[in-house]
Amino acid sequence: MDAQKLACLQSMGIAVWVRRDYAGRAAEPEADPLDPAGMDWQALEPAVAACERCELHRGRTQTVFGVGNRRAEFMIVGEAPGAEEDRRGEPFVGRAGKLLDAMLAALGFDRSDVFIANVLKCRPAENRDPRPEEAAACAPWLDRQIALVQPRVLIAVGKHAAQRLLGTDSPLGRLRGRPHRYGKVPVVVTWHPAYLLRRPEAKADAWRDLVLALSLARGDGA
Ligand code: SF4
Repeated sequence: MDAQKLACLQSMGIAVWVRRDYAGRAAEPEADPLDPAGMDWQALEPAVAACERCELHRGRTQTVFGVGNRRAEFMIVGEAPGAEEDRRGEPFVGRAGKLLDAMLAALGFDRSDVFIANVLKCRPAENRDPRPEEAAACAPWLDRQIALVQPRVLIAVGKHAAQRLLGTDSPLGRLRGRPHRYGKVPVVVTWHPAYLLRRPEAKADAWRDLVLALSLARGDGA
């Protein structure tokens, strides 16, 4: 690694292991300087902004890192930025975002009280679904965000978020309505707000899911 790149990574707070070869001792492999394990928020955000782990980096206006309270009780995970999110750099904006805000308000929370992030940090073209290889490439960033937030409850909105967090290919309809686990963290699965805009009759389900999330955060019945 050249000195300029090393200085740049160190200025971002990214720990870089520099190899030293000792006589008679095999050189150990150089650590990946963009491995999120161990990164703090200060290092993580610029590392995500510079990420080229999958092809989606080519079409993005910017990465959509996530917003909100970095020590939130609730962390909401969606699937991927859309056109407006890509333009503004914030997840869940537009009509679906407003509906999410209204649902949070009904629970007594403001958007700034929770942390909101997506499975993918870059927008897929034409708002297509995330591909498995893209979700896998982006997984270390989301995993590190969850580790840093340490939420009491994760709320997976939409099929792709639920399947990514739970490591399953079960349909969303079979996953919602009961608690799951991501490591030790309870997970509640619910409909994506964009789906609720198309199917308003499903809002009652979503409300029950949020009430379940609230009861889990209070320590009831995980
Ligand atoms: S979607 Fe994720 S893995 Fe792919 S380039 Fe963007 S930040 Fe990197």
